[in-house]
Amino acid sequence: MIVINSIEQLKIHLISMQDQKKIIGFVPTMGALHAGHISLINRAKAACDVVICSIFVNPTQFNDLSDLDKYPRTVETDCRMLEKANCDIVFVPEVMEMYTEKELELKRQKVEDKSWAEGKRIDFGPLEKVMEGAHRQGHFNGVAQVVSKLFRIVQPQKAYFGQKDFQQLAIIKSMVKQLDMPIEIVSCAIIREPNGLAMSSRNERLTAKEREIASIISKTLFMIREHYQSKQFKELMADAEALILKESSIKLEYLEIADAETLQPVNDLNKGKNAVACIAAKIGEVRLIDNVVLY
Ligand code: AMP
Repeated sequence: MIVINSIEQLKIHLISMQDQKKIIGFVPTMGALHAGHISLINRAKAACDVVICSIFVNPTQFNDLSDLDKYPRTVETDCRMLEKANCDIVFVPEVMEMYTEKELELKRQKVEDKSWAEGKRIDFGPLEKVMEGAHRQGHFNGVAQVVSKLFRIVQPQKAYFGQKDFQQLAIIKSMVKQLDMPIEIVSCAIIREPNGLAMSSRNERLTAKEREIASIISKTLFMIREHYQSKQFKELMADAEALILKESSIKLEYLEIADAETLQPVNDLNKGKNAVACIAAKIGEVRLIDNVVLY
């Protein structure tokens, strides 16, 4: 496995792989890797000739500076895990390798910088106005900014994303379509702890007791999935809220059932159409998200 820090070095390797017509699979991450990330690497390994993973804690997708500072950084352990998973290349750029000072200044001033769209009028429409988009100002612009940069550098045929970030997946698919990028976006199932808690780098910041408490998030989602077809919508939502709020140390940010395509809220039982139940909640200072697809 090769660890590369510079775009220039990465491009040297990429050119020879492209010359050999290798299928390149790409897994972008922010590090602090766990079995969820490794499942994406495994999916990519099974379908591609070369697998490239990036580790970059992207400053432009954070609106809370202390959240950015506290984001776990464990590059050495990450590299050992990636090596074991037979990843071929790990790209670990510094912030100044990915961004110009001007781009960072715009972020500091909270100005939405759309230069990543290279003059195209990209509009995520209602997709970015709900849930994470509504609660984290500028988050998806930052995600699109870094992922479009990474896609232009790596030029993969396939890129792998987890359903754990359901809305992010929808945004990336929309971005690739609007930018006409010839990249297949592969969506991968959520990997969970034995108690149901969705694996997340942020779980590292929870104590063992808090991890147990946090499992109420997935338990609530599983309850919704179990009763989605049989219970009245209002009753189901009330039961779900009551269940999660039984844990007094959990602060619920949102609990929503949305159309799985448009992500717009579903207000009544929407049988026959796929929906997704989504939760964002905080335990102390740690913000967690999770979802389940409903049929
Ligand atoms: P992150 O490092 O949190 O930005 O995540 C990198 C990629 O891993 C994203 O596509 C996530 O959706 C995916 N991912 C994170 N946690 C999980 C999980 N528990 N199961 C599956 N994929 C995940």
